[in-house]
Amino acid sequence: METVIARTQSEIDTNEAVREAANALQSGDVVALPTETVYGLAADALNPAAVEKIFEAKERPHFDPLIVHVHHKDAVRDVAEIPEEVKKTVTQLIETFWPGPLTLVLPRKPMIPDLVTAGLSTVAVRQCDHPVFHRIIRNFNGPIAAPSANLFGQMSPTSAQAVMDQLDGRIPLIVDGGACSRGLESTIIKVEPGEKKPLITVLRPGPITEIDLKKFGKVVFADRNEAVEDSNPEAPGMLENHYAPGKDLRLLSDPADFIPEDGKRYALLSYRGQPKDGFLDLHEWDHVSILSPGSGRVAEAGTRFFHVLREIDGMNEIDEIISEPMPDRGVGKAILDKLRKAQVKT
Ligand code: AMP
Ligand code: MG
Repeated sequence: METVIARTQSEIDTNEAVREAANALQSGDVVALPTETVYGLAADALNPAAVEKIFEAKERPHFDPLIVHVHHKDAVRDVAEIPEEVKKTVTQLIETFWPGPLTLVLPRKPMIPDLVTAGLSTVAVRQCDHPVFHRIIRNFNGPIAAPSANLFGQMSPTSAQAVMDQLDGRIPLIVDGGACSRGLESTIIKVEPGEKKPLITVLRPGPITEIDLKKFGKVVFADRNEAVEDSNPEAPGMLENHYAPGKDLRLLSDPADFIPEDGKRYALLSYRGQPKDGFLDLHEWDHVSILSPGSGRVAEAGTRFFHVLREIDGMNEIDEIISEPMPDRGVGKAILDKLRKAQVKT
């Protein structure tokens, strides 16, 4: 199969790309689409044969459920139930963060195929904030299933070229909507009634942070080990060996933990490139990439994270990637989560 990239630089190109993508979805095909988080591999969420093509193209195991995208806020009720006891909070969250990188896990409507939810009684829903995606889903006029457009276990793509590098020959169409502004997958939460306040459990950390969420309830992070329930995890993004580059990667918390091996060529993934953080002058690095040069901003680091990691991964002159620790706050939590899962298991 030939994989075509549809550009969206001009209005004419965009109209054509939107039409082609919506047609592909209508005829039960998959198509890679830009979102503000990472590129998604989209199919008609109500067509199991189309959804199956997502699993095939990604080589994704069927126990890993997909996120369903809706074309407007009210359409959440087409795919999910909003339980009465959390209705106020869920409605506030949707009003505040949609369209945007917040995915809500809610009881599913029966019309959602089992394949989408991996047989779970819940469905993960969000409304994406990307102008091209928005036009395509409006045109298609129905829910779209779209997990990240990468091969299972590998790094999420934040550009059309990154999708091409992984899925060339496996899918017919990639819509190029530019680099993703957030660069990290959506925050996934579930909401339950709590003692004093509603309980918001973060199943996957992402661009919407604890600070953003805590106005709406008590925020807790799902215990990684608890969530990794063999073949039916609550948030399978939490499986080990996810988001992994081809090269070995090690996340170090202390510079003293770095013991270079003879002849091995190392790249440093640095947060802000400051010598005082203890890593920059630690070694004669064969390459240094800085996520947010200077003062260091976690949101900027998040946006650039997969792009930079992919760049280093493509360097023949590098054997191993050493990552500095990232701040354990805000978007930094999502970056740390990816780095922990990407690193070599010892
Ligand atoms: P991806 O977009 O590739 O990161 O995949 C979507 C992710 O959404 C899955 O890996 C799960 O972590 C999460 N997800 C989807 N549906 C559910 C659900 N019903 N309950 C919990 N997490 C879900
Ligand atoms: Mg993914």
